[in-house]
Amino acid sequence: MGIRSERLYERACKRMPGGVNSPVRSFRSVGKTPFFVEKAAGAFLIDVDHNRYLDYVCSWGPGILGHAHPAVVDAVRRACEKGLTYGAPTEKEVELAELVNECVPSLEMMRLVSSGTEACMSAIRAARGFTGRDKIVKFEGCYHGHSDGLLVKAGSGLMTESIPDSAGVPAGYAENTLLAVYNDTESVARLFDAYRDQIACVIVEPVAANMGVVPPSEGFLSFLRRITEENGALLIFDEVITGFRLALGGAQEYFGIRPDLSAFGKIIGGGMPLAAYGGRRDVMSCIAPLGPVYQAGTLSGNPIAVTAGLETLRQLIAHPELYRQIDEKAARLEAAYREKGLTVNRVGSLLSCFFTGDPVTDYRSALRSDTKAFASYFANMLERGIYVAPSQFEAMFVSAAHSDEMIERTCRAIREAI
Ligand SMILES: *Cc1c(COP(=O)(O)O)cnc(C)c1O
Repeated sequence: MGIRSERLYERACKRMPGGVNSPVRSFRSVGKTPFFVEKAAGAFLIDVDHNRYLDYVCSWGPGILGHAHPAVVDAVRRACEKGLTYGAPTEKEVELAELVNECVPSLEMMRLVSSGTEACMSAIRAARGFTGRDKIVKFEGCYHGHSDGLLVKAGSGLMTESIPDSAGVPAGYAENTLLAVYNDTESVARLFDAYRDQIACVIVEPVAANMGVVPPSEGFLSFLRRITEENGALLIFDEVITGFRLALGGAQEYFGIRPDLSAFGKIIGGGMPLAAYGGRRDVMSCIAPLGPVYQAGTLSGNPIAVTAGLETLRQLIAHPELYRQIDEKAARLEAAYREKGLTVNRVGSLLSCFFTGDPVTDYRSALRSDTKAFASYFANMLERGIYVAPSQFEAMFVSAAHSDEMIERTCRAIREAI
């Protein structure tokens, strides 16, 4: 690690918990200290010590076009000159909502918010308001942001730090959160039996990507669709990662399942703080000012963030071939990991290698991975100028900026690093 990053880290630790503004950035679980970024371009991050890293974190998902895409940056620059925030509606918000609806037809109506956390939290509030029920079902190892009732076996950062549930969440909050096992239909059926007419919704990552990538098994999502419908509960897809990543229409297009509500984040903001939730018109009509479910935001639909999101979606729509290309590139990475005997889960351009020979299908099987072996692999990759997420339980993201040569170079590094 460079001397400038080390000095910044020391200063940061005095003023911010762990020196960072989001826990997994700290590199603690891999026994290292983070580099501090100076700038980014295309598939590369450059740190304050002038080290260059081929980046497979892509800001944890948003960077599907690569960093500082010229069209997006240009649109943002022009938007900035017209003011940063108005707190009043703009034409671009309407354009974005219409474009999202064209890509994801289930979003008949939507609200723009500022983070995936807010989108999931608000979608659940809408589901509760609409059904008049309190309980929700979530899956072990699925992450839906850090709102109180959802920090129960929430994967990702908590798994990395071996924290099953967050402190500071009153038992009463989590009481209404029922836990099921990902890919286990029986575990869901049992909850619907035990809590008949009390369950407002099931929220699920249609491809789990916060316990490492775990695809839904055949029939799992259609089972969730059926059992929610039969019980008057809503199905919420948390597409914060999968949205605009697996296809323009997200996981719901990829798997052909139409949820009642969905949450989007990451790519939809094109690198700015923007997210969305929405779905059925009758459910979204419960949101204030139309209905009694309150949800608001000073910076919701911020004109700069909307501009970045809009331009990103336009680029994706103009280059639909990109999805096949990043899928193929990710497949080559998958093959390199498999050569090394690791378990690899991949859906499109989302993948994870697990340091175990056993299949990973849920939270418990993910936890069997050898995180020490992961830490040494992480360090070896970083030494070779390749930045993968500093945690076993995160996804690897391939972007349109990753060239064939870069993928080749990464495959060589994988062969050496493991
Ligand atoms: C990142 C993420 C969130 C939370 O989004 P933030 O913008 O970090 O609040 C929610 N759900 C999933 C599936 C995510 O990956």
